[in-house]
Amino acid sequence: MLSRVAETRNPISFDYAIEISGRDILWRHDVDTSTRAAIEIARIDAEMGVSATFFANLRSDTYNLQSAYGRQFLSELLGLGHHVGIHLDSEYYGHFETSEELETCLSLEATTFQNLIGVRPTSFSFHNPSPREITFDADKYADMVNCYSKHLQSTCLYVSDSNGFWRSSPVSELLEKHPESPIHALTHPEWWAVKTLQPRERMAMAIFEEAFEQLHRYDESMKVRGRTNKSEFVSENNRLSRWLHSIETFNRIYGEEFQKR
Ligand SMILES: [Zn+2]
Repeated sequence: MLSRVAETRNPISFDYAIEISGRDILWRHDVDTSTRAAIEIARIDAEMGVSATFFANLRSDTYNLQSAYGRQFLSELLGLGHHVGIHLDSEYYGHFETSEELETCLSLEATTFQNLIGVRPTSFSFHNPSPREITFDADKYADMVNCYSKHLQSTCLYVSDSNGFWRSSPVSELLEKHPESPIHALTHPEWWAVKTLQPRERMAMAIFEEAFEQLHRYDESMKVRGRTNKSEFVSENNRLSRWLHSIETFNRIYGEEFQKR
């Protein structure tokens, strides 16, 4: 699919979304859960020559952009030639009633991103927008391109993998059937880690992996400080074994307790 995008399409940044036409494609990733999955996808996109925009959430439950590793994550995305936008978690702000409220929060977040990576985002997408947020359909707010603008909705064919499956036709089908129409394609990196699992299991894996990255950083910091890191588990830096360890450990410690609930 990605090679087809690279061969037949012109990936553009959201800076040019208002003039989108022909074979242009907006290749968008909303980072909901896993920076690890996002980096994997970012590397694959870059290898294939497809530049994407990653929308990252300052209020995520599972990752922290304002930590050292969070900033490194954003810098790596930029280093790979991608763009960074704001994935705005309106629930954190108690949802927006007016465009002024929306713009105040967007400006605040844009300044935070700018302080983190030296680049001010020029686009944003809502995370789990409420019906009210969907009505904010102007091209821009706080000088940032709105992924849910009426203009984008009417000019592009839109495809999304929200909730772990294609909402309409898969991207490959759109590319095949509409070679000359502009496309806005949204994927969430955590859904693409292990495709054979059901969406809920893929989500569980993304959450575990993010936690295991944290554990890995803890192990590294212990090593750097020359401290004793007592553990009965083998620490292997291998994705599958870490995943199996996490399940096994989780089951052993919490399995019984969860069965009672
Ligand atoms: Zn989201």
